[in-house]
Amino acid sequence: MLIRKAEFVCSNTRVDKLPPATLPEYAFIGRSNVGKSSLINAMLGKKGLAKTSQKPGKTQLINHFIVNDEWYLVDLPGYGFAKTSKANREAWEKFIRRYLTQRDTLQCIFVLIDSRLEPQKIDIEFCCWLGENGLPFMLAFTKADKQSAVKSDMNMAKFRRSLGEYFEEIPPCFLTSAELKTGGERILETIADVNTR
Ligand code: GDP
Repeated sequence: MLIRKAEFVCSNTRVDKLPPATLPEYAFIGRSNVGKSSLINAMLGKKGLAKTSQKPGKTQLINHFIVNDEWYLVDLPGYGFAKTSKANREAWEKFIRRYLTQRDTLQCIFVLIDSRLEPQKIDIEFCCWLGENGLPFMLAFTKADKQSAVKSDMNMAKFRRSLGEYFEEIPPCFLTSAELKTGGERILETIADVNTR
């Protein structure tokens, strides 16, 4: 997909204030620091579009970006801040779960996973929650440049195996590096395919 235009639309703390649900929408989510902002910026070819490294405790926002005037990319706040309070965590869950389950135009959720790590419980649990709610998702493994291809493949395989304990069918997986600008194009092609269906 050629990115002709990518613009920030709005940030929201409330699901009832989101832009009108008129365009197909693709959400990106993952543990904080997984490399979500970097991947979004690399994919859309705009450096400071999504802010990198949001600090824990900051207002958690749903950020809408419009791409090629055709679809929304939605940057969701990261989960799994080690230092956040229980109250903060619960507020995050309520807010994000509400968005994910109520947004009619949401086509697919890209769950970002750090390719350097063994399967993390919080990521598996989040995928299971998506599955239980019948929400379509795919996996984007990040930071591939940080280790050998063999190691990335091994961690991806381990993650797929862990998911396999809960899912009959494993969703598509993409290996990406924001640093090397790899993997994003395949995600964009997938989005283009869904948009033309
Ligand atoms: P977010 O909190 O998920 O939005 O994560 P960020 O995009 O802010 O990235 C967290 C840290 O990881 C930053 O220091 C980034 O520079 C670094 N990072 C993100 N993606 C990559 C990548 O593909 N390769 C490398 N080497 N570093 C990355």
